[in-house]
Amino acid sequence: MTLTRRDFARIGALGLAARFVPSALAQSNDRKTGYAVIGLGRIADHFMRGVRNTTNSKITALVSGHRDKAEKIAAQYGVASGSIYSYENFDEIAKNPAVEAVYVALPNSMHAEYTIRAAKAGKHVLCEKPMCLNVAEAEAMIAACKKANVKLMIAYRCHYEPTNLKAVKLIRDGALGQVQSIESPFGFNIRAGEWRLSKKLAGGGPLFDVGIYSLNACRYLTGEEPAQISAYASVIDKDGRFNEVEENVGWTMRFPSGIVASCTTTYGANMPGYFRVYGSKGWLQVDQAFVYEGLRLRGEFEGTKLDELNPARDPSHFQAEADHFSHCVQNGLEPQSPGEEGLRDMRYITEIYRTAGISI
Ligand code: NAD
Repeated sequence: MTLTRRDFARIGALGLAARFVPSALAQSNDRKTGYAVIGLGRIADHFMRGVRNTTNSKITALVSGHRDKAEKIAAQYGVASGSIYSYENFDEIAKNPAVEAVYVALPNSMHAEYTIRAAKAGKHVLCEKPMCLNVAEAEAMIAACKKANVKLMIAYRCHYEPTNLKAVKLIRDGALGQVQSIESPFGFNIRAGEWRLSKKLAGGGPLFDVGIYSLNACRYLTGEEPAQISAYASVIDKDGRFNEVEENVGWTMRFPSGIVASCTTTYGANMPGYFRVYGSKGWLQVDQAFVYEGLRLRGEFEGTKLDELNPARDPSHFQAEADHFSHCVQNGLEPQSPGEEGLRDMRYITEIYRTAGISI
């Protein structure tokens, strides 16, 4: 399933963003934005493979605490050994003209520090979700990037993913009539020992990590901001994993139009992420909505029956995301998911925890 030029134009007209247009459609030059990847863990691997598939981006530097690992990856991506940095000498990146942007792929607690240091070094920033640990950090990141006149994008992959975009377009086109309610779970059964279980490193539990996808989806599906939020949290498994962060969160949101959304997230069970949207004329659902491949759009509305499996394979989401950010950098455009988008989610996450009785 591909969106046509007309689809993109209509998405733009519907208030999403014409900037969803991939650079392949929008431009044809040979310029490649050079990225320094900060943190060489799991997500960085997806991102680097995605960058390799773009025509407008390349990996030009690596930042890691493990020189051996960085040397191996540098060899794979043609990164000069003089462009491998440690966390200590990271600020020297300011002097490296091959680096135009950084990709922050570190534990959540390090996002604010490295975004601000990169901005001070004059580099554009693509930062992983969740943006940071709290609203104050998010505001400081936005301010630092504005002051340095560099772009800040939060890596909300699904904003650049065709099946999610098609669901949004169908809703905006009125295929479902008046949307009434949305349901969206997302969670997984976490292993002990993960940094995600440390409140200091992660900020919170599954809401910060994966529940944020459901929260963000309800916002892009409705095109509205929640007016009211209420939430519950719990720990069931007393096996030591949840001494610092919650195991489960369930929350509901009422949007200004009256749409109600109901979301759950967990670190105690494998819960494939999906969203299901009910309207006066029918329903649609995206299965595997937030993972890297296998997304499936189903629905029934006004005599139409949909069942479409998106054949795109990993790392297509990361390719689209890098493509978009490089396109913005090269053309002086504001990204579709700027720092302000991450800040909004930080505000709602804070409210979800507050109403669930958890302080962050
Ligand atoms: P990971 O544990 O696989 O990688 C983290 C990297 O940070 C490692 O290279 C590690 O060496 C480095 N690091 C530096 N200091 C560290 C410290 N004090 N503790 C632990 N690691 C440290 O994690 P990940 O799954 O790649 O997640 C990284 C970020 O990416 C997180 O913010 C996460 O929320 C986000 N993420 C996004 C997606 C997505 O689809 N967009 C998916 C997974 C993770």
